[in-house]
Amino acid sequence: MAESSTAKLKSGAATESNLPLSPAPNSTLCEVALPVPLPQTFTYSIPLNMTVEPGMRVVAPFGARRLVGVVVGCGQMPAGLNPKTIRPLQRVLDEIPALTQEFIALSRWVADYYLTPLGEVLPAFLPRAASLRNKTKLVITETGREALGPVRAGKESIVTSAERQMLERIAKRGGLSSGTLRGSEALVEKLRRRGWLAVERSVEDSVGRSPHVEAATERNAAFDKSVFPRWELSPPQQTALTRINDQMDTGDFGVLLLHGVTGSGKTEVYMRAIERALARGRSALMLVPEINLTPAMAGQFAARFGERIAVLHSGLDDRDRERVWQRVREGKSDVLIGTRSAVFAPLARPGLIIVDEEHDGSYKQEEAPRYSGRDVAIVRAKESGATVVLGSATPSVETRYHAETGKYQLLELEGRVQERPLPQTEIIDMRQELAETGKQTFLSRRMVEAISMRLQQHEQVMILMNRRGFSSFVICRSCGKTVECANCSIALTHHKRAARLLCHYCGYARPVPQVCPECQSEHIYFMGEGSEKVEAALGKHFPEARIGRLDRDTARARGSAESILASFHAHELDMLVGTQMIAKGHDIHGVTLVGVISADMGLARPDFRSAERTFQLLTQVSGRAGRGEREGIVVIQTYYPDHYAIKAAAAQDYAQFYKQEQRFRQLMHYPPFAALANVIVKSDSQETVLKLTGRLGRFFESLQEDKQKGRGWRMLGPAAAPIPKLKKAYRYHFLIKAEQRSLLRKVLIAAQDFARREKFPANALIIDVDPQSLF
Ligand code: ADP
Ligand code: ZN
Ligand code: ZN
Repeated sequence: MAESSTAKLKSGAATESNLPLSPAPNSTLCEVALPVPLPQTFTYSIPLNMTVEPGMRVVAPFGARRLVGVVVGCGQMPAGLNPKTIRPLQRVLDEIPALTQEFIALSRWVADYYLTPLGEVLPAFLPRAASLRNKTKLVITETGREALGPVRAGKESIVTSAERQMLERIAKRGGLSSGTLRGSEALVEKLRRRGWLAVERSVEDSVGRSPHVEAATERNAAFDKSVFPRWELSPPQQTALTRINDQMDTGDFGVLLLHGVTGSGKTEVYMRAIERALARGRSALMLVPEINLTPAMAGQFAARFGERIAVLHSGLDDRDRERVWQRVREGKSDVLIGTRSAVFAPLARPGLIIVDEEHDGSYKQEEAPRYSGRDVAIVRAKESGATVVLGSATPSVETRYHAETGKYQLLELEGRVQERPLPQTEIIDMRQELAETGKQTFLSRRMVEAISMRLQQHEQVMILMNRRGFSSFVICRSCGKTVECANCSIALTHHKRAARLLCHYCGYARPVPQVCPECQSEHIYFMGEGSEKVEAALGKHFPEARIGRLDRDTARARGSAESILASFHAHELDMLVGTQMIAKGHDIHGVTLVGVISADMGLARPDFRSAERTFQLLTQVSGRAGRGEREGIVVIQTYYPDHYAIKAAAAQDYAQFYKQEQRFRQLMHYPPFAALANVIVKSDSQETVLKLTGRLGRFFESLQEDKQKGRGWRMLGPAAAPIPKLKKAYRYHFLIKAEQRSLLRKVLIAAQDFARREKFPANALIIDVDPQSLF
């Protein structure tokens, strides 16, 4: 529930309140979530001629402004409240609620848990056009028809002539949109209240087939259909499926971790479980990190579930999103695949929620509301008595911990299907390479040899270089400065084909300098490498090879990621170079070599998850090798061959990694052994940010010094954020670690109250609960 303490008056001349969620037909008051950075909702009175239900969008006066908000509750005027202090709503924008009750309840949970105003949560998940294009009409009801019937002898007609005219007009046309009835609102409203007219959703199918199902089906054609057979389950797959089915059969909420190595056949288990959910009359939701990057997976589901499937992801435009949303809401699709925000889709009675690659960082939204799609999925499942399957070859430490301690059930697939072996891995120590060759290079002799061997055998190769661009920075040898972004404290990356220096954080671009922008020296050097340079270098080494590249630059145009992947699937490309995008779930049987140019890149990040992220990325990308008939190998180049994340990934040994990582987390009080929040203070003025940070720091200290309030949590910081200036804002941060979540909440709410009391500028304080990255 949203924070709502006392009923004190607020600036909007509306009160904070917490009215019941139930739609009350004769409500006189409603609670409205408004898009303002305040943690409460606001109460308005409902004018007599207005019908309002939770889930409808309304226009409400707020100070001198008018804002569009969402009604989240309706009720009666409580005794003791002076009606004069409450302002009336100005307009209702929807005839039927744009948002379901379940959606509102889930949004309330998000607002509460992530300490974000409900008014900022709700609009974030609505397809923008959805509520504006509600197709509804007014129709005459049975009782309305009776009222129109012949007047019996001796009785007076109960219908006035104006009413009769209106009813007949509507009856004759088989229903009318309220737009056509403008000017007669009062009369219509009266007839509605009497039960003679009702609002009906227009039934004609304006939506049609989801264009993305079509797209997915078309793309299928690009993949060999024999990738999509219905497999006889292997015994381990069968065991896992039985456990999932048993859980679904209880009809109760439960979470299972499906921990299966790469290539263990998790997808087939998902599909069978979905079939079971449907057979039980329940719908199914599957969250995936990024759909464009797994077109084969989307195609496979489309082939199995046909028309019943809908696909929802962030790349859709508003119209497409609206279509999918409506299809799901109308029950025409009861299998939904989508990225994180699909967890809010109006799917009725979900019985199964799958979160594929549950460890993936993209489930966390890095702007407000900073929610985790995976965690919201679990909450949603709890509300609807659904089974959750979290699937991964490299579960997050938190999830694996919950499975070990019994909070989740643990299902393991320890081997690949058809007893295919996991790939053999070699580690290349790049320090030694430098010592032996005397050359600073990013392609070791062994890497080149391994590639040429595979190419000679007409097998396919994937090369991971987890940074896009050509050179990663430009440095001046005279003054020692790197060319930085104008808005961020970040070195600009050289993109050769685009002939630009680009900031990967804010998009700032500038021409490639001929001389140092600081000292005008001509001695500027382009250093470091990105995927573009690796592609070019491989092109020189292997002029015969057909090389493709998959990164954010080449995937920018709509559909291009899919087509690059389709070409690789069809073996029209011999080699695919790319960023982490190439590591995602691809099942390409021709790949027998995976090369990692620089395994260490992620390790340098000042972030407690950097080891975990490195382990996951290396394990996932290694898992792309040897998925077909022929065995695969992996070659990993590194300057830290002894790092436990790299060693464990090379050995494909999750248990070893988990043991070490768990010890580190416990020792350092990081999740899952503490509840964590990142508190960022930011401002465009360096002076302001320092002042605010100082004040907030002293406030935290004063809490810590208090015997009662200071117990069970600790504060790290303040420190400059890892990226001290981002998008023009200077940033400092604190990490708050608490033994219990309730304690963490208390501290964070106290910080929010403090910032409000002390009149911090709006948006100066950012609270990230369960942060996935600390930049
Ligand atoms: P994961 O997601 O666990 O990495 P996938 O679901 O992509 O693995 O499955 C790997 C490959 O094994 C796919 O090509 C899939 O079609 C195939 N496969 C799945 N189940 C079976 C099975 N029971 N027998 C043979 N092949 C299977
Ligand atoms: Zn210089
Ligand atoms: Zn920038």
